[in-house]
Amino acid sequence: MTFSWILYLSALSTAAYASPLNSFEYDYIIVGGGTAGCVLANRLSANPSISVALVEAGPTVFNDSRVLIPSPAGPTWGTELDWNYTTIPQIYANNSILQYHAGRDVGGTSTINGMVYLRPTVDEVGSWSALGNPELSWDSLLPYFKKSEHLQLPTAPNASAKASYEASVHGFVGPVKVGWGNDLNPGEYGQALNTTWQSLGFSWNRDPNTGNNTGLALFPIEKDTVLQIRQDSARSYYLPVMGRPNLHAFTNTTALNVNLDGGKSHHGPQGLVVAKGVNVVLPSGKKQFLRSKQEVILSTGTYRTPGAIYNPSFTLESLTPSYNAKPMTGTLTAADLFGDELDTVAAQLYKDIPSYARTLSEASNGAISIQAQEQILLARANLFFKKNIAIGQYTFQIYGGNRWVTLPLSTENVHSSSDPAKPLLNPNFMQLPWDTLVMQRLFLVLRRILSAPSVQHALGPNATTELSPGYSLVPADASLPQWTSFFQSALAPTWHAVGSAVVYVGSR
Ligand SMILES: Cc1cc2nc3c(=O)[nH]c(=O)nc-3n(C[C@H](O)[C@H](O)[C@H](O)COP(=O)(O)OP(=O)(O)OC[C@H]3O[C@@H](n4cnc5c(N)ncnc54)[C@H](O)[C@@H]3O)c2cc1C
Repeated sequence: MTFSWILYLSALSTAAYASPLNSFEYDYIIVGGGTAGCVLANRLSANPSISVALVEAGPTVFNDSRVLIPSPAGPTWGTELDWNYTTIPQIYANNSILQYHAGRDVGGTSTINGMVYLRPTVDEVGSWSALGNPELSWDSLLPYFKKSEHLQLPTAPNASAKASYEASVHGFVGPVKVGWGNDLNPGEYGQALNTTWQSLGFSWNRDPNTGNNTGLALFPIEKDTVLQIRQDSARSYYLPVMGRPNLHAFTNTTALNVNLDGGKSHHGPQGLVVAKGVNVVLPSGKKQFLRSKQEVILSTGTYRTPGAIYNPSFTLESLTPSYNAKPMTGTLTAADLFGDELDTVAAQLYKDIPSYARTLSEASNGAISIQAQEQILLARANLFFKKNIAIGQYTFQIYGGNRWVTLPLSTENVHSSSDPAKPLLNPNFMQLPWDTLVMQRLFLVLRRILSAPSVQHALGPNATTELSPGYSLVPADASLPQWTSFFQSALAPTWHAVGSAVVYVGSR
């Protein structure tokens, strides 16, 4: 789920035809031409009687080789195509300041991200329903997953035999090309991982996109396997329709603020304030007001929800070649990670919910009540212990053995600063002890896997030593406080912030 602020406007008028695009007046103004923004621009402008403006701070990058190359990390990071956010000092993690990447171009973060194509699970989506969104369910989302997807399969017999997927949950004609190329070859390393994984009692998952992602699996990559280029949102959704006369993209154009008009109250859908349009700075430096006749949609990305990764640098394999050829992911449940201790651990977490909820509510300055936090935490705990969903994940090929807590309980917040391009991001890593405990268990399992003789053999002679943390810093029998201290000094984000904030301004 991505984060989009959506400001609903009163329908002041309904255009019969798209208005002339040089009038700076549009039915819909989409602020942020990123991953979500490009999809919205495509879908809304499909109706020729609706005029749409797409406002994006960065440029188009269709021919930029740093974007095109199917790399999980790197070439665009720290460049002008990256907002280069930093967090505020992380008080639970040695006051470390962490770098946060976010795409700054048409296509947004999909032009710089890791290209992993994985969906949420049936139970995760189901928990959104339980929190008051009954229309959201796996069954209601699946048609859209399929509609957007174009699964490409290897054509070479060797690679084709290795592709592992369940055809009924995939789409084959959508705009987003994903899949595996003819270089697909998990090879000796993949075999060794799978054998070791299963010998520890964990499962192989034929397809992690069916709504159940538990187990070791191959994941599709968001790339055009014929052209061998990244398949970002701009390429999928904006490029094919950029010639539509009713769609106007303002690139290199920064939105300053939404122009609001109306009464004093803007709390809830019945409030009185109406968004009239958006003030932007054009590439020339000139300020311009874009008037909206129907809705202003803010899809400028998010960094306001939790994410956690502690990322020691196991140097096991080179990045890019292995990533395309051996895209393996493994996820584990609480039952996998805690084994015989599961009941004790579960009882403790349920007991901790009231105090965790107080901590989270206080950290939000009461913006989210203790009761609401309790509800959210209870839903999470039920997912962990009653639905048995995966709570931790590995990607074995990207960094050799990266791992993270997929559903952390620590909760992020973000505030504006005097510099609009530099919001104050506070992920609150390690705010709640639960996340640290899960992380420790993920490490313990990883050590068992990577030290298995078959895996060591597959990795070759240069990869047999654990570089970080290393057994001298964190011995095999290290206590949780020892692990905690390592995490505090070594954690890094995976930049998968999710969240939602729907601001209703005016009635619809
Ligand atoms: C390094 C990294 C790796 C990731 N790897 C993966 C992965 O492998 N698989 C996966 O599924 N997800 C991955 N993600 C997460 C995923 O890419 C994001 O969740 C998703 O792209 C966010 O989409 P969005 O539309 O919410 O925001 P974005 O795509 O970030 O779009 C926001 C857009 O708004 C624009 N904007 C912001 N402010 C303004 C303004 N004032 N005026 C005009 N425009 C503005 C930005 O320039 C940007 O284009 C990764 C994220 C990162 C950072």
